[in-house]
Formats: sequence, C-alpha cells, structure tokens
Amino acid sequence: MATKEIIELQPQALWKNFAKVCSVPHPSHHLKEITGLMVDFGKSLGLDTRVDSVGNVLILKPATAGLEKRKTVVLQAHLDMVPQKNNAVNHDFEKDPITTIIDGEWVRANETTLGADNGIGVAAAMAVLESKTLKHGAIEAFFTVDEETGMFGAFGLQPGFITGEILLNMDSEDEGELYVGCAGGLDANITWQYQGVAVPEDDIALQITISGLKGGHSGLDIALGRGNANKLLFRFLKEAIIRYEARLASVEGGNMRNAIPREATAIITVPADSKEDIEQLVSEYANLFNEEYKEIENPVSLVCREVELPELIIPEEIQDDLINSVTACPNGVFRFIPSMPEVVETSMNLSIVSADAAHIDIKCLLRSSVDSKKEELASMVESVFSLAGAKVAFSGGYSGWNPNLQSPILATMKEAYRQRFGKDATVAVVHAGLECGILGAIEPHLDMVSFGPTIRHPHSPDEKVNIPSVERFWEFLVATLENIPERK
Ligand SMILES: [Zn+2]
Repeated sequence: MATKEIIELQPQALWKNFAKVCSVPHPSHHLKEITGLMVDFGKSLGLDTRVDSVGNVLILKPATAGLEKRKTVVLQAHLDMVPQKNNAVNHDFEKDPITTIIDGEWVRANETTLGADNGIGVAAAMAVLESKTLKHGAIEAFFTVDEETGMFGAFGLQPGFITGEILLNMDSEDEGELYVGCAGGLDANITWQYQGVAVPEDDIALQITISGLKGGHSGLDIALGRGNANKLLFRFLKEAIIRYEARLASVEGGNMRNAIPREATAIITVPADSKEDIEQLVSEYANLFNEEYKEIENPVSLVCREVELPELIIPEEIQDDLINSVTACPNGVFRFIPSMPEVVETSMNLSIVSADAAHIDIKCLLRSSVDSKKEELASMVESVFSLAGAKVAFSGGYSGWNPNLQSPILATMKEAYRQRFGKDATVAVVHAGLECGILGAIEPHLDMVSFGPTIRHPHSPDEKVNIPSVERFWEFLVATLENIPERK
C-alpha cells in the first residue's frame, strides 16, 4: 500500500498523522469522519477536546514542565479538502481514502487532489499534541471546518473559544515564507430590470466576441495588468454606439466572480449599411488591444460575425447607462500596501456582465487587506452604478488581515528561521483570503503568522507537496514553539 510508504518519510511523527488524515474521507461539507478522528485522537491522548457549534475541533495540551509561563499558542489548520479528480480515475471523495504516491521529492495522489492543503497542517498539529519530547508552552490545536467553500468554520468561531495570544496558521504553500497579511473580500451585485424594445428598422445583427486573454485569479494575478474581457469589449461597444448607431441586444462576459474574465461576447444591431464600418472598427480595436497588451497577453482575438436578428434589444437609455457605468467602473489594482509597495492592498475585478432584453446582472469582487479601503472602493462602485440607475447590493463580505511588520511573533519566527537555516525567511502578504482575516476580526488581540510546506497546484488533481519542505516546515515549527516568549 502506498500509504505505508509515506509513514516512513521524515519526520515520521508528522507523516504518520498525514496518513491517518488521508485514510478518512474529508471533502468540504463531509467532515463527520475526520471530525470523529480528531475527537478520538484528542481523547485517546487524555487531552481536553471540544467541538463548537459549527463543528470546529479544539484540543488543549498543557505546557511541558518548566514552560508554563510561555504565551499560549493556537496551532490552526482546516480539516476539509477540495475534491477534484481527473475524469479517467474512479474516486468517490465521500467514501474513498486518498491514495498517496511518492514521486521523487514530492508526494501526490492518484489523479485526485491530495489534501496536503491543509492535511499537512492538521498532521503537524497532531504531531505536536502527541509528542512527549517537544518543548512548548500551552497549545490550543484548533481545527476549522469547511474553509475551502467559504471559510464557514472560521466565520462560526465564538469569541472566547480559543484563548491563546499567538495564532500560527499552517495553511500557506511556500516553505520559507511567512505570511503576515491577507485580503478581505466583498461581492458587489448590480442589476437593472426593464422591458426590451424593438430592433430599429433595417438593422442587422452582429455578434462581437473577444477571447484569447489569459485571465487568472482575481486576487493573486490582479497586479499583472492582464486584459479584462468585459472592460475591453465595452471600450469597443461604446465606440460602435457613438460612431455607427449600434444598439445593444445582449452581453455575456466572464463566468466566475474570482477569475479575471477571459472572454466576452455581445450581440449588437446596426444599420445594414454600417456593417463594413463595424468590421473595420473591429479590426482597429483588435490591433489596438494587441498593441497595448503584447507584453503580457497571448494574442487577443476580437471578431465580428453576422447573426440572426434578436426579437428585442435593450432600451437606449439603459444601454447608455450600462455602457457608461462599465466604462467608469474602477477595475484592477486600486492601491499597493504603503509599507510593502510591491504587494497589492486593494483591488477590483469586474468579473461578470450578463445582459439581455429584460435585465442586466453585473458581479464584481472587491479585495483589500484594509477594511476601510475596501469600503471606499465599494462606495465608488455604488456611486458609479447608482448614477446609472442600477440597483447595487453587497454581500459575502469578510475582513482582511492588515500586515503588522512589528508583530512580536513575526520577530520570534524570523529569528528562529535564521538560527535554524542560516538564512532569512521572506515576509509576504497574500492578496486573497485566509482564515486569519476572519479569525483576527473575531479575536482582535491575536498575533498571527501563516506558514507551511511547499505545495504546488492545490485544488487540482496535480496537487503535490514537497517532501524536504515538510521536514523544514516541521523543524521550523518545533524551533518556533521552543522560542515563544513568556507572558508579560
Ligand atoms: Zn487551505
């Protein structure tokens, strides 16, 4: 059995617990078995083990002799994994254990996600709980549920359930990097409702499609300056309306809120004698976009073809309001972090535009590590679309984690890393969500760092974890625990 192989890897204390995690199914929202495993694990060690109302598990381990005055450390990881597999493989994430395969310096699964995100973090906490030799102050091992589908466990934390002053989140994916901040998020939902109107006489219909863009993650890739298919398409549409009396019938652009839109398509109607002008305009804009983005994009395709006339189109007033507001709407990086000028603080993704002859839906995702900047951006979005007569609603908001470069635990960990490995750890901020943002909003006194082993392609069947990085991650965790300062 492959699982037998990973328990021979170093450090065995961690890998044997990772094997246990892999042995029980634990896709998001199907955590009964792994929660049971954790509760049994805590109880079998004779440790105080608690489950809160949303299913998060907390296992308390007292300080080792002589270290009772050390600050209490919360070791945090999430229990759930993303279930993704290749079509070729038969795997039921709700029933089957994960098969682990050692592949050179990496451990992966058999064409499924591995769940090293965040099973290695879970296993590290289990190894600390189990150890009779490590030196540490009081430990609160805190295992959250359903992180991957919306951080429900973190949101469900009741104030006072964890009491430690320091929280080590073990859900990062680059060994040697210490994460000290993350972005919060907010969804903007913009709608118009109306009655469609008839197509002007003698018009023909054309479909305009932009494609070939790279897209990417709306947070992690936003600073790359890639083209946003919605923004680019609307630049063309505005010009076509102004110059050639084009009328808008429908738009479909983007399909995921957290992805930079790669493709967008619109159906317009134009006077039949403008067809050639529009084709000319399409080719002008195709050249323009390719010129503007040649350093960062694949070749951009903007094409036009005649299609069947739609029954109804968008009323002219609404059409103009839509075009103007999408044009004016902020998109991309809004501000970099003043103390870390290479890291994005606040950004906007104009993710989805869907319009037909009866309604328009626009969805955006706003991110910031500073809640007040996110609110400022939200206010801009609200202003732009309210001016255009749309209904604007916000949902799904969660807090960011504003980096504190003076954090005491950061200083302790940087020093421990230097001592242990003879080089400096990198301090980083991720422009995407981490549970730390939510946990820190519930327990504002927490001093936090997120770190972990090197994991590649998480959330995909190619997920793999680097074996030597797991060993360094573990050594670093042990060294950090040994060096936690005393309570004041
Ligand atoms: Zn994770």
